[in-house]
Amino acid sequence: MPGGDGTGPRGQGPGTGGGRGGMGGTKPGAGPGGVCKCPSCGHTVPHQAGRPCYEIPCPKCGTKMVRG
Ligand SMILES: [Zn+2]
Repeated sequence: MPGGDGTGPRGQGPGTGGGRGGMGGTKPGAGPGGVCKCPSCGHTVPHQAGRPCYEIPCPKCGTKMVRG
């Protein structure tokens, strides 16, 4: 802090709260915008927001999809 008096308490403000962990640590494909994959034939379809993959039957073989 150029020109500052240095009396302000440090450790306050953005970035010190913790508990957010950033972008790392999540499994690929486990977020919004992923795909649903058929565990039987391997066919994939874009995941629909608000609709779990396990409720969507595979368009090819009818098996319920899983999160891909
Ligand atoms: Zn299938």
